[in-house]
Amino acid sequence: MGQDEKILAAKQIIDTSSKITVLTGAGISAESGIPTFRDSDGMWNNIKPQDIASPHAFKKDPGLVWEWYDWRRRIINRANPNQGHYALAEIERQKEKFTLITQNIDGLHEIAGSINLVELHGNIWEIRCEKCDKVIKNYEVPLPELPPKCNTCGEITRPNVVWFEEIIPMHMIDQALLSIEESDLMMIIGTSGVVEPAASMGLLAKQSGKQVIEINLEETPNSAIYDISLQGKSGEILPLFYDIAKTYN
Ligand code: NAD
Ligand code: ZN
Repeated sequence: MGQDEKILAAKQIIDTSSKITVLTGAGISAESGIPTFRDSDGMWNNIKPQDIASPHAFKKDPGLVWEWYDWRRRIINRANPNQGHYALAEIERQKEKFTLITQNIDGLHEIAGSINLVELHGNIWEIRCEKCDKVIKNYEVPLPELPPKCNTCGEITRPNVVWFEEIIPMHMIDQALLSIEESDLMMIIGTSGVVEPAASMGLLAKQSGKQVIEINLEETPNSAIYDISLQGKSGEILPLFYDIAKTYN
């Protein structure tokens, strides 16, 4: 199938599905100017994300870890949702049931208007106390003090995100798996598909008889098992998939 035929086939599946689960990764925010970890400019002082976004690194040098997050918060703060984020929010409005699972921590889906959102890896605009576990929203850029202190107990806080070597809260995994089970279609967008447990979600959907459509700049290790795998930018492809007539209702 050529790209035009694949897009038409994908549109038909999306049009006829009333229950959809979507999984997004860093790729959906790339066109907003937020680098994926695999982009070379995703680097900071030649430090690899795996070496700084970890409990080990935080224990050793919380100030350094916070400097990295302060830098990422600055980049994300300058960014706006792109047409891909907006298209997903629009598709949600047009469907009976819609769940958006994201690995991103940038908060752009929420700004674009997505409602039923599962942020598997947390949110960079939330900070959590290491001692009393209190979570607050904080949008200060740059942060006036690194590391920021808890306003309840004075202890140092950490970003409320899931780090390498940490596990995603079980209730989020449950919510994600349940929504896949209850959907007719799963869409996997802008994720390399190598990070668990998200990597297995597409396989699980296929094994339970769901249709799966992938959108990515390039083929991924799982592309061949999905029903349709579209290569291109999510910000250009996704807007083709909602019913424009319905947006004026
Ligand atoms: P990744 O960096 O491993 O892969 C990104 C994928 O997106 C790649 O497969 C790439 O081909 C694809 N891609 C790049 N630009 C695209 C575009 N315009 N349209 C469609 N696809 C595009 O990211 P990952 O798989 O999400 O895993 C890395 C981890 O780091 C995840 O937890 C991720 O959420 C996190 N992360 C988050 C952000 C963010 O919040 N914006 C940014 C970087 C990394
Ligand atoms: Zn506290």
